[in-house]
Amino acid sequence: MSKNVLIMAGDGIGPEIMSQAEQILHFLNQDEGLGLEFDHAAVGGAAIDSDGVPLTDAALDQARAADAILFGAIGGPKWESLEMAIRPEKGLLRLRSELQLFGNLRPALLYPQLASASSLKAEKVSGLDILIVRELTGGIYFGQPRGVRMLENGERQGYNTYVYSESEIRRIGRVAFEAAMKRNKKLCSVDKANVLEVTELWREIITDLSQEYPQVELSHMYVDNAAMQLIREPKQFDVMVTGNMFGDILSDAAAMLTGSIGMLPSASLDQNNKGMYEPCHGSAPDIAGQGIANPLAMILSAAMMLRYSLGFGATAERIEQAVSRVLDQGYRTADIHTEGTNKVGTEEMGNAVLTALKSTH
Ligand code: NAD
Repeated sequence: MSKNVLIMAGDGIGPEIMSQAEQILHFLNQDEGLGLEFDHAAVGGAAIDSDGVPLTDAALDQARAADAILFGAIGGPKWESLEMAIRPEKGLLRLRSELQLFGNLRPALLYPQLASASSLKAEKVSGLDILIVRELTGGIYFGQPRGVRMLENGERQGYNTYVYSESEIRRIGRVAFEAAMKRNKKLCSVDKANVLEVTELWREIITDLSQEYPQVELSHMYVDNAAMQLIREPKQFDVMVTGNMFGDILSDAAAMLTGSIGMLPSASLDQNNKGMYEPCHGSAPDIAGQGIANPLAMILSAAMMLRYSLGFGATAERIEQAVSRVLDQGYRTADIHTEGTNKVGTEEMGNAVLTALKSTH
């Protein structure tokens, strides 16, 4: 049965890096008979230019109908003076909320060849491969009531509500256990169960869920300790699962361990593992149109899509190995370039990955 992928390249470097990911997908589609079909839709500034809105209803319908969405990046100075409601970012936010993409997967993977780019000592991070699973549509960022109120003594008080229902915890927990099953079968759940009742419930539900995944080794860690351990001994982790706010902070810290934003893919999944896949970085208007952007985060996002939404884990691994091979061969875009390596542009890097793929089966 064929599977439909919606390509949304977006703005800035989005189309440049997307065309590299697309040529790789087209090659693999043919080489392995994956049965993928591709559609395209405008999003962000590109959609504002063509249709007056950052995401048309028709594009949203295409996204709903697709099995997975590959997303480039959106935004740029050209659209920054527009009113908030029709800014490029709204297209992305609408996609996330309409498709109920509650499960955010952010790998922090450091290819050993790039260990010197990290802010930690190379031996601490070389070969680092963590997956952070962050709940994306609940928790304190969305809890009601919220606001700033006036107290009787005339002082203002800000307040937010940290809430998670059992079903919300269970569904993100399931995403994390399933991800762990596809990796090294170790899951660390991060909470603050010693202080916050909401995360006491979190711990209880995750523990309960673990009975369905006896092969996964589950541990629990308080968030303060998790932050410390990420810096101290990051390679102890395989998959980490946590709520929206803790995940926001920990995933950025983990990303920095890898040194380069041009290398990091991400996924946002719904209940049925349908997902949207995109690089962690933005549209990089400062380098757009110069042909120097690093396409690897985009290419690795395509690999994640094959693994998590389309069920082609071995093909995903083939892409990841090809990326590792071109790094071995010394190819580097400007953002990861160091002395003694071969500085290349976007197309050359994409072509090098394609060549590496063609020499493997
Ligand atoms: P950015 O991630 O676009 O760029 C930050 C820095 O990293 C820049 O110097 C850029 O040149 C560099 N960089 C990013 N990706 C790179 C790549 N693949 N190769 C080489 N270098 C790369 O963040 P920003 O500058 O804060 O934002 C620029 C625009 O992107 C803004 O309009 C912002 O709103 C938007 N944005 C979009 C997304 C998204 O589409 N998901 C995410 C973040 C920012």
